[in-house]
Amino acid sequence: MTERNSVYGPLDDVAGDAGYDPEHPPRMGFFTDTSVCIGCKACEVACKQWNGVPDDGFDLLGMSFDNTGSLGADSWRHVAFIEQPRRSGCQDTGLDAAPVGATATGIMQSSVAGGLAASPELGGELGTRPRRDGAEPEPLGMPAFSRPGDATGAEVRTDFRWLMSSDVCKHCTYAGCLDVCPTGALFRTEFGTVVVQQDICNGCGYCVSGCPYGVIDRREGDGRAQKCTLCYDRLHDGLEPACAKACPTDSIQFGPLDELRERADRRLETLHGLGVDEARLYGRDPDDGVGGDGAFFLLLDEPEVYGLPPDPVVPTRDAGAMWTRAAMAAGAFLVAGVASFLGGRR
Ligand code: SF4
Ligand code: SF4
Repeated sequence: MTERNSVYGPLDDVAGDAGYDPEHPPRMGFFTDTSVCIGCKACEVACKQWNGVPDDGFDLLGMSFDNTGSLGADSWRHVAFIEQPRRSGCQDTGLDAAPVGATATGIMQSSVAGGLAASPELGGELGTRPRRDGAEPEPLGMPAFSRPGDATGAEVRTDFRWLMSSDVCKHCTYAGCLDVCPTGALFRTEFGTVVVQQDICNGCGYCVSGCPYGVIDRREGDGRAQKCTLCYDRLHDGLEPACAKACPTDSIQFGPLDELRERADRRLETLHGLGVDEARLYGRDPDDGVGGDGAFFLLLDEPEVYGLPPDPVVPTRDAGAMWTRAAMAAGAFLVAGVASFLGGRR
């Protein structure tokens, strides 16, 4: 049960709570429906182009077709590629009838694998985890040019699906990054989003440990915190954020958060009706540990599969209770000290 003045739980008017007058615009957000993401990365590119975010390397990481790995100071959108040996819902993958044989020519295999091995940043062979500190590559099994099952001797095609998901800052109702920032560089906008002002950030990094999702990051060089602004400048001009504008499948949907929540509920109902029982909403619930996200998702598997925490909690949730108890302890020490002083004088 959420108490009055608690720093978590449902909050109807996020911008009003931050001090904006009642005429402020509605809370805006993202609903990312990962079930229709095709992994084109137009969102990543549009974000970089509009916001002037520098590139962060163009090497494949050896983790499917992911070349950014995670959100960071230079990746405000990150499209995850997750490969799984199963079909999506009752989908017919068409693999049963697919021809059996090598999936690529030898010449392609040698040129791509050779390029990966020579990559200065990462990679050793196809289908291996990134190499760091000279460690041996760890085989992941995918992607590779051989058929699924070849290495095990099964020699048959199996069910297979890609989960693709464009991750981003969640613009939390209770934002740990904002709560712990000592300089006021992070602030709540009139749209209910969370924005960092680089010219005020002193690079202390408190926000990095304050974010329960591991989103915000300090940029190499100047050390200042960086993350998605939900294109605050575009919102001012009545434009939708660059990633949502560029997304060709409407996987990224932008709009008033209340409307997005209703739309997401309907989409979930549709998918369940189609037999995609594993579909679920993530970050939509205002009763969760961050009071619900301004950017929430429809996922097709457990959040952990996508690298998302299953039960995020704003780290400042218990700050009020903590200070109350600290004050009580200090009071008790004071009373004990005075009592002992008075007792000693008798
Ligand atoms: S706490 Fe993390 S996810 Fe939430 S608004 Fe801040 S950076 Fe974004
Ligand atoms: S979210 Fe949209 S733009 Fe981004 S990779 Fe998926 S389909 Fe492409």
